[in-house]
Amino acid sequence: MRKGVESEAIVIRSKMYGEDDLLVEFLTLRDGRIWGKARHGRKSRKRFGTVLEPLNILQLRYRDSGNFVFLEEAALERPLSRLRTGLESLSIGFYFLDLIRELVPQRSPDARAFSLLKESLVHLNDNKSPGEIVSEFEHRLLDLCGYSPHLEACIGCQKKWEPAAKFFFVFREGGIFCADCLPSQVSFELFSREALSEILPKFIEYQLGRPLRSLEFKNRSRVA
Ligand SMILES: [Zn+2]
Repeated sequence: MRKGVESEAIVIRSKMYGEDDLLVEFLTLRDGRIWGKARHGRKSRKRFGTVLEPLNILQLRYRDSGNFVFLEEAALERPLSRLRTGLESLSIGFYFLDLIRELVPQRSPDARAFSLLKESLVHLNDNKSPGEIVSEFEHRLLDLCGYSPHLEACIGCQKKWEPAAKFFFVFREGGIFCADCLPSQVSFELFSREALSEILPKFIEYQLGRPLRSLEFKNRSRVA
C-alpha cells in the first residue's frame, strides 16, 4: 500500500456517493484540484466531523489511487467563523469556489491559485472590503488561467487609457478599445475602473459560455 501524503487543502464541495461513501472535491496545494473519497463517509462523520464542509481550510492526509485520493485524516487549519455568519461573505466564498472549479483544471497544481483562494477567504473572514477582494480575486485568477484582460491601452491603436477618455471593453477581444477602433457588431461595455467590478464577472461568464448561479446569488445577497 502506498504511503499517505500530506497537503494543505480547501474544501470545494462534498456529496454522498453510493450507500455511504462521501466524495469531496478539494483544491490542494500539492496536487491541485482533486476528488477525495471518505469510506463510510456517513458513518465516519465522527472521524471527520464537520471538517469536510465547503470553504474549510484543512491539513489533509491522503493516499493517491491515481483517480481519487483516499482520505486518511483531515484537520481544520483555520476556522472562518466570521465569513460563515454573513450572507454576503458566504455567497462571495461560494462564488470563489465556483470560479476555482470552473477555471482551474484538475490535477494541475499551482501554488499561486491555492494561495489566492486561501488569502481571499482569510481576508473575507477578516471583514476587509468585500468589493475589492472580489475584483482582485477575479483579476488574478483570470491572469493565472491565461485570460488576463487587456486594460492598459486600446487593443487597436495602443492609445493609453485615461479616465477622461471614452474606452470600451469588448468581450470577444478580452480588452479595451478607444472609440475610433471599436469593432462593429461586438458586445461591449463602457469601460472605467469603477465598472470593472461589473465587467470582470461578465467576462468570466463570457469565457465559460454560460451564467454562473453563484454569481447571481452573490449579487442578490449584496448588502445594500
Ligand atoms: Zn484605438
